[in-house]
Amino acid sequence: MSFNFKKKYGQNFLQDKTTINNIVDSINASVDDLIIEIGPGAGALTKSLVRKNSYLLAYEIDTDAFDYLSFLESDKVKVIYDDFLKRDILNDIKNINYKNLYIIGNLPYYITTPIITKIIESELNPKELVFMVQKEVAERFTAKVSTRDYGSISVFLNYYFDTKKLFVVDRKKFYPVPNVDSAVIKLTHKENQIPVDIEKFNKIIKDSFKFKRKNLKNNLKGYDLEKIASILDEHGLTLEHRAENLNYKVFVDIANKY
Ligand code: SAM
Repeated sequence: MSFNFKKKYGQNFLQDKTTINNIVDSINASVDDLIIEIGPGAGALTKSLVRKNSYLLAYEIDTDAFDYLSFLESDKVKVIYDDFLKRDILNDIKNINYKNLYIIGNLPYYITTPIITKIIESELNPKELVFMVQKEVAERFTAKVSTRDYGSISVFLNYYFDTKKLFVVDRKKFYPVPNVDSAVIKLTHKENQIPVDIEKFNKIIKDSFKFKRKNLKNNLKGYDLEKIASILDEHGLTLEHRAENLNYKVFVDIANKY
């Protein structure tokens, strides 16, 4: 490929057909649905996604990709050459009729968290997100309670999504070969979200995880510990537990009752 690869855009293009098929097969979109692809690059995923016959909207920051993507465009396939983070996505899709929204991408790793945060904050309500991210990031995003990688981001994502690490992708499957391995994750939107003040919820999570090895009593020193203890007690927990022992529902409960 004669592509002029740009490190600043996190450009490592996936070369392996089996991996491409496995990623594309892991979203359940069909003909009435809308798929948004973030960072199509030279179209490794895009070419397979087109076959799903959904409406496909891709965002690519690098206009050099035009030569690789333009031939894929049609009534149902559009590429916007712009920074995904700067777009008003709801406005971009306002004239598209669709049943469910799916978002997919081999993400540019330097902006993984801003992309996911933007999706959550823009109230797009996608049914599923399927993303290739750095392996360690995948482990943190999808970690289960009381495991080593479980942290504030795992809890935050778990409020919105059922999170799952699907498979690991060796760095050699990309060109240029990056310095890290990758993994594909799937985030499935939760049907019934428990209402909560998100700012309060986030603050309690952040404070509780402030020092990972410390227990809640130490991390939540500025709080009314008696009150926190009584909420924890309803879940069979105490201030001696660490944040890593609390599932997202406990944090929601604390945010709602404190
Ligand atoms: N999907 C391709 C593949 O799998 O081979 C490319 C993946 S590459 C890891 C990430 C892609 O995201 C690159 O094409 C890069 O130019 C694009 N990109 C980087 N920053 C972006 C942004 N802010 N908005 C949209 N696309 C971006």
